[in-house]
Amino acid sequence: MSHYAGPIARLIEEFAKLPGIGRKSAQRLAFHVLNMKETDVESLSEAILEAKRGTKYCSECANITDIDPCSICKNQQRDKEVICVVEDPRDVAAMERVREFKGVYHVLHGAISPMEGIGPEDIKIRELLIRLQNGEVKEIILATNPTIEGEATAMYISKLVKPMGIKVTRIAHGIPVGGDLEYADEVTLSKALEGRREL
Ligand SMILES: [Zn+2]
Repeated sequence: MSHYAGPIARLIEEFAKLPGIGRKSAQRLAFHVLNMKETDVESLSEAILEAKRGTKYCSECANITDIDPCSICKNQQRDKEVICVVEDPRDVAAMERVREFKGVYHVLHGAISPMEGIGPEDIKIRELLIRLQNGEVKEIILATNPTIEGEATAMYISKLVKPMGIKVTRIAHGIPVGGDLEYADEVTLSKALEGRREL
């Protein structure tokens, strides 16, 4: 039985569902919201709804976007012959911060993980293969994370793509093993891209 009034208990409940938010943090956030100005609370809840309702997957690269195709796919300056394959939309943001990569992306939305029951059909590999059928793509850079799952995913894709006569490269190990691409600094990421090796 909660000792809080119904609406507060519900807000705490909702915050506690978020990743990395424990019971205590959820309570702290809920009371913080109560102390906020009403206009700020409105702006926060609108931002949450808008982020959810106003975004979708890009029909080309599967990145999260508010316009389709996304601004990267739509950009005529980007080299459509090179596709950098990443696990997560946050990895695209990390790569874009480096400002060296001029190709386009493909977002898998996960990695193959038998432990978690995630198979190749659960991530956007099929969509990638369909993209490659137009014969325009010359190189695939596999920039999945240097984790067991990321490596397994890179190997899996490599086996499918190489027979298509497309060059397949893997970013270098500048990124600490088990690390997350998203958190790599720009220099590390730039070196990893530069030092990519052919699979
Ligand atoms: Zn796109």
